[in-house]
Amino acid sequence: MTASFSNLSLAEPLARAVAEMGYESMTPIQAQAIPVVLTGKDVMGAAQTGTGKTAAFSLPLLQRLLKHENTSTSPARHPVRALVLLPTRELADQVAQQIKLYAKYTQMRSAVVFGGMDMKPQTLELKRGVEILVATPGRLLDHIEAKNAVLNQVEYVVLDEADRMLDIGFLPDLQRILSFLPKQRTTLLFSATFSPEIKRLAGSYLQDPITIEVARPNETASTVEQRFYSAQDDDKRRVVKAVLNERGIKQAFIFVNSKLGCGRLARSLEREGMVTAALHGDKTQDERLKALEAFKKGEVDLLVCTDVAARGLDIKDVPAVFNFDVPFNAEDYVHRIGRTGRAGASGLAVTLVSPSDMRLVADIEKLIKTKLQVENYPLQEERSSGYSGEGGREDRRDDHREDRRPERGFERRREEEAPRDRRSSFRPAQASRDPFFEKPYEAPSMERAAAASWEASPKTTGSRPGISANIKPKRKLAALFKSGE
Ligand code: AMP
Repeated sequence: MTASFSNLSLAEPLARAVAEMGYESMTPIQAQAIPVVLTGKDVMGAAQTGTGKTAAFSLPLLQRLLKHENTSTSPARHPVRALVLLPTRELADQVAQQIKLYAKYTQMRSAVVFGGMDMKPQTLELKRGVEILVATPGRLLDHIEAKNAVLNQVEYVVLDEADRMLDIGFLPDLQRILSFLPKQRTTLLFSATFSPEIKRLAGSYLQDPITIEVARPNETASTVEQRFYSAQDDDKRRVVKAVLNERGIKQAFIFVNSKLGCGRLARSLEREGMVTAALHGDKTQDERLKALEAFKKGEVDLLVCTDVAARGLDIKDVPAVFNFDVPFNAEDYVHRIGRTGRAGASGLAVTLVSPSDMRLVADIEKLIKTKLQVENYPLQEERSSGYSGEGGREDRRDDHREDRRPERGFERRREEEAPRDRRSSFRPAQASRDPFFEKPYEAPSMERAAAASWEASPKTTGSRPGISANIKPKRKLAALFKSGE
């Protein structure tokens, strides 16, 4: 049964905007979340980007805020009433653009602030007054400290992609930001998974939340054809090109595990005649937005990216995703291949597996509860003559695996986008064997949420093979929660 937006009795300006977007019926997260948010209750939603969750929280939130709508030019009449927090600039930008579309026939003002951009234009916009503020945590704190953003009239706060915000160490920043908000408010938390840490966050900041889970978090879409090909590092680019040729695929995402590897692979593929762009955390904001735009317009064939940079990007109709490196975290596999096969379209996800990656493949098998076949890809016998005519040595130097450090999005150079507490900016998942992931997926129970994984199994902190010893374990989230309560 499909639920129609007309059943919601949305105010006319919102209904008009939705109609203009061409949405015919509500997505499952919208059908479940919108009526609940309209009642003002807290929500804990398990939904990934691409499920329509932005409309699921922003439409009811706008509807509830319409009572404050006014045309006054006085900034005092336009205080921040809804705050939406996201982990990356791209996501913040994307969500802000969508909110603008939904609010376009109302008088509600919205703005987005994120790091890596000049603060001045953001400050001017904030000073004029905005009802809906979309932000990444680091830059928002800068604006709070500069007294550009006042949050004492916030009625709604949305913690979007909350799992990733915790992964990249934003918990202390979130705690600070939440401390500026009125206690009496509605809090909506969206996360791809309900890990014990997420449940703990919800336990601290949500009041009697309604839990909404639209799909099992670790499910992969049935519309995605998943292939695993064994390939030596030196052969991987040839396999990528052969698959693209064989299938007549024009555009794809190529995921790698490190920033260094990302740039190198993009350059190598470029030398081989593909039009590529690299998307990783060391790129400037401008470069990242340009790369995305170029890909969306079809001017770029291959977007080579790291997990952090690509998380949740709303680029539809990507025919294929390549995992040039098997991700260190099995959950990232699910996110990566979620870029393709969206909205019912069929997609292809190819993972290139070198012999040392078998353990990581086993992790993915466990997570998605599917037996995976690693096949040999039948490459033409040109390999003995060297990988390409353009200097095999150069290509070998380009072996991205030389730098095995995974990108951890906010261990970046620019201060304004780094979490305040650098001790917590490393993700421990690859440094510890979390028993949570050792067994097949099952819907987590509340009891399990009470005991975080490290508390349940203090001994299991050995390194995973292939991970740099430089990766430091993150400060225990439990300690951080205590300090913020
Ligand atoms: P989101 O998960 O919010 O990032 O949304 C992913 C994409 O789905 C966006 O491009 C939305 O415009 C689109 N979308 C959201 N709701 C619907 C709907 N009910 N029907 C069709 N498309 C939608």
